[in-house]
Amino acid sequence: MGDRAIIHVDMDAFYASIEQRDNPSLRGKPVIIGGASDRGVVCTASYEARRYGIHSAMPGKLAKRLCPDGIYLPVNMKKYKETSKEIHNIFRRYSSIIESISIDEAFLDVTDKDYIMIAKNIKRDIKNELELTASVGISMNKLLAKLASDIEKPDGFTVIKKGEVIQLLKPLPVTKLWGVGPKMERELNKLGIYYIEDIQNYDVNVLISLFGKRGKELYDFSFGLDYRPIEDHILNQSIGEEETFHEDIRDVNILIDKLKLYSINLSNKLIKKGYLVKTITVKIKYDDFSIETRSMTLNIPTNDHITIFSTSKHILLSKFKMEKKVRLIGLTLSNLIYPEDPIQLSMKME
Ligand SMILES: [Mg+2]
Repeated sequence: MGDRAIIHVDMDAFYASIEQRDNPSLRGKPVIIGGASDRGVVCTASYEARRYGIHSAMPGKLAKRLCPDGIYLPVNMKKYKETSKEIHNIFRRYSSIIESISIDEAFLDVTDKDYIMIAKNIKRDIKNELELTASVGISMNKLLAKLASDIEKPDGFTVIKKGEVIQLLKPLPVTKLWGVGPKMERELNKLGIYYIEDIQNYDVNVLISLFGKRGKELYDFSFGLDYRPIEDHILNQSIGEEETFHEDIRDVNILIDKLKLYSINLSNKLIKKGYLVKTITVKIKYDDFSIETRSMTLNIPTNDHITIFSTSKHILLSKFKMEKKVRLIGLTLSNLIYPEDPIQLSMKME
């Protein structure tokens, strides 16, 4: 297996499966979450709906043309988040090193543990306790574990072993590599790179000269090499508030007042979700539309509005030049974490 053992868990058609679980009359039917309004987009389509060609991020209008008899439901985020927390409670039985990458996906570091047994148990617990299915991928790093969970969806269970990595990667399109979206795909296509094998055969120095650090990473990824750690407890999400002023502002006190208001609102959000914040970022857009952002990372994570406010004020006063009028000010909290102490967490959730 290599030095590490990583499990990637990805829930199957998460939002739609929850709705089908809670309302038996929806089972076996094309259920589409989001996209109810013509201007909205599809968040999740049940597997029955996918047979009509519907997929997430598709405009609602198009989905309805493909499947006019589908059942279109609004997004019930509160319910999905609660379910996500229950899934995380299951994860915590098996590993304390967990990285959530979205509401329905996470990595677990299970190095030196019986990873096959753990992956089976996680699937079993999710099925028995939450009546949902997950696809799991197991391999020696995040890149390969995520790739593995996608191979057999839904209800999948896939292990990628060290010896089979390079052959397995060769014929896959470049978009299967972490972080290769449509834009990067076009860039690579211009170089005649369509498949992962093409990257394996490319001159790494050319990739580096074109894409910098990302070029080296792509080259490594094409051989299944990925050294990124599991970012324990850190949620890959952020929350923020920003506002464009009616008139451009020069008075710094107005900006400070805004930060104070944002801090209170965002602190309330953190408390409601049971999260703490580590990184605080202030963003300013000037009257010429240029944007500057400055951040600070706290030694001790917090949800306290006074700490968030005093930090953001300090960032504003010490890290921005403020030579131009301000059109917009924003405050973002990222590196959100679950408190390490599960008792503290359960109290906050009530
Ligand atoms: Mg999923």
